[in-house]
Amino acid sequence: MSTMNAAAPPPTPEMRRPPARLWSLEVVAAQDLNPRMRRITLTGSDLGELTYKPGQDLVLQMPLGDGTYGRRHYTIRGLDTAAKRLDIDFVLHGDSPSGNWARNVQAGMRIDANGPRGRTVFNPRADWHLFTGDETCIPGILGILETLPSHAHVWALIEIADGADRQSVSCKARLDFEWLERHGPGGPSEFMLERVKAFKLPPGQGHAYIIGETSNVRAQRHDLLARGLAKDQISAEGYWRPGRIGGHDHIEERPH
Ligand SMILES: Cc1cc2nc3c(=O)[nH]c(=O)nc-3n(C[C@H](O)[C@H](O)[C@H](O)COP(=O)(O)OP(=O)(O)OC[C@H]3O[C@@H](n4cnc5c(N)ncnc54)[C@H](O)[C@@H]3O)c2cc1C
Repeated sequence: MSTMNAAAPPPTPEMRRPPARLWSLEVVAAQDLNPRMRRITLTGSDLGELTYKPGQDLVLQMPLGDGTYGRRHYTIRGLDTAAKRLDIDFVLHGDSPSGNWARNVQAGMRIDANGPRGRTVFNPRADWHLFTGDETCIPGILGILETLPSHAHVWALIEIADGADRQSVSCKARLDFEWLERHGPGGPSEFMLERVKAFKLPPGQGHAYIIGETSNVRAQRHDLLARGLAKDQISAEGYWRPGRIGGHDHIEERPH
């Protein structure tokens, strides 16, 4: 794990995370949501006890193919405590341990997970909300949108390769939603930054949830800070970056 800053703002009571623990999970089913996203459904005897906030993740102990395991963060896309089942949606981004596991997984295979963890959760005290992310953030952003109260005023911008990555969006809140099609591979670029720069900050005290590729997250956060958002109005986390194996990046203001 790379941690690039020390002091994140203290979470509000609503944003505090529940205690993490180990979950022993078994694969129940797998289905392609589209050519680049695969949903794996898992069960566990104690999943009835799992509580989490939409947007939070589990750290999977992913088999690396050589008998060892690596930590990989994956968002809890959905949980049915009565059925003791949870869904995780994997981006099939290339020849990597998690992508290969998701492609080839069979019912009955087991995987351990730690969590829940993660601070990128809804701040109910904000007057408005801005979510941005790439494909890896679809499970988190759509999961949060599905649980928002109808009075919330929300903008969500998700960059995707092309229309095949779109999913249906369900949200009771007042929502302005955009799928931003890159027509190219994901990674460091100014694609989302340009859209965020054009986003006119609404009046009131907002909260921005900026996730995705680390350098893109950092650039967007920098822009929002420069336009007057305070640090504690922004939740920012790098979900991946070229060359990084697993882990996550907390984002601070200082570029590097
Ligand atoms: C809090 C959090 C929640 C996340 N939730 C999800 C989720 O729900 N679904 C999901 O698919 N991902 C999610 N991610 C991202 C995921 O953890 C990373 O993409 C992870 O690196 C994937 O592991 P891997 O075994 O496929 O690749 P790794 O072994 O970690 O990396 C191998 C290579 O692939 C590159 N790489 C990693 N991810 C990508 C990518 N998305 N696109 C292009 N290249 C990549 C790496 O830079 C590296 O060069 C989340 C990350 C965090 C921090």
